[in-house]
Amino acid sequence: MTPGYHRPTVLKIKLENITKNVSNHKKMLNNEKIFAVIKANAYGHGAIPVAKAALEGGAEGFCVALLDEALELRRHGFLEPILVLNMVDALYLPLAAENNISITCGNEEWLEEALHFLKNNPLNNPVKLHLKIDSGMGRIGFFTKESLQEAYEKIQQAPSLFLEGIFTHFSTADEKDETYFNEQLEKFTQLLDVLPELPEYVHSSNSATSLWHKAGVGNLVRLGISMYGLNPSGKTLTLPFPLAPALSLESSLIQVKKVPKGTGVGYGKTYVTKKEEWIGTVPIGYADGWQRKMSGFSVLVKGKKCEIVGRVCMDQCMIRLPEEVSLGEKVTLIGKNSGEEITLQEVADHLETIHYEVACLLSDRLNRVYE
Ligand SMILES: *Cc1c(COP(=O)(O)O)cnc(C)c1O
Repeated sequence: MTPGYHRPTVLKIKLENITKNVSNHKKMLNNEKIFAVIKANAYGHGAIPVAKAALEGGAEGFCVALLDEALELRRHGFLEPILVLNMVDALYLPLAAENNISITCGNEEWLEEALHFLKNNPLNNPVKLHLKIDSGMGRIGFFTKESLQEAYEKIQQAPSLFLEGIFTHFSTADEKDETYFNEQLEKFTQLLDVLPELPEYVHSSNSATSLWHKAGVGNLVRLGISMYGLNPSGKTLTLPFPLAPALSLESSLIQVKKVPKGTGVGYGKTYVTKKEEWIGTVPIGYADGWQRKMSGFSVLVKGKKCEIVGRVCMDQCMIRLPEEVSLGEKVTLIGKNSGEEITLQEVADHLETIHYEVACLLSDRLNRVYE
């Protein structure tokens, strides 16, 4: 989808805030490295500009979810270590190796397939692997000591494989109750003990773990959401230092009209004016990731909250203005406007989801402008 360059709706990304969030996080760490997690187009913020900003803040590598996301970084000249947090079809291991991209090995079956493929297609430079431990998340990862030990030995013996790291992921690091976190930590530590020697990178911390669990094991932090200035726990836990959100979403009024009482607004005529009202049209809709469920939420015009009335259309939505406002007046959907602010958290609350999801769903049609 082509971004809309010639329209007033823009997603503004303050890169200096990303740099600041990373460097402030770095100050909090002992000696751990930071790998910036920039999967899913950097949580909707734009992978390439965010990658640069993260390096300026002190990140020393990247994590992504797909091989293609890693290749995009290499194409743009990034030479830092990159870890793909998911498994990659064995067929693409030569591509990963050629581009010095590290891959996750999360189970015996994958390893068998990789070994089988590599026997017929040996590599000049081995592909770097990180072993994933399932310490309680219940998704990819080795679950037992025996399977981990066996995998370790097979990797040691395979000339086309090189063990670069081992890691796990916590499922409740953003919650007040630490019981399950500690169980996972214990399991990870026990599984690490199985290995005769630890690889270069041992890692278990995402943003939440790093912010609230100093005890998290490892020498590397996979820093995602908090780099973008968002509290990983939503509203549950207090941040140890302030984060600066990087993203704001702005548009402007393309139509303003005074309508009489009883006027229908939007598909299905779900909103009918209760008296004479000022109705404004904003050129953003669900195709931009501004979902139909946003109906009933508010946007900011001249520092005042204005309700989204009627159904959100694919490309437009309508708002009720408190008074006549000039055409072209700025509309803030996320961010600050004349001292008032609407946060991604508030949007997420309205949608009954988490800010991660809201940010990721802001579509490619939105023009991302960096400042
Ligand atoms: C996405 C992801 C992260 C980043 O998590 P945040 O909560 O955004 O910091 C870290 N590790 C893994 C395995 C992930 O999938």
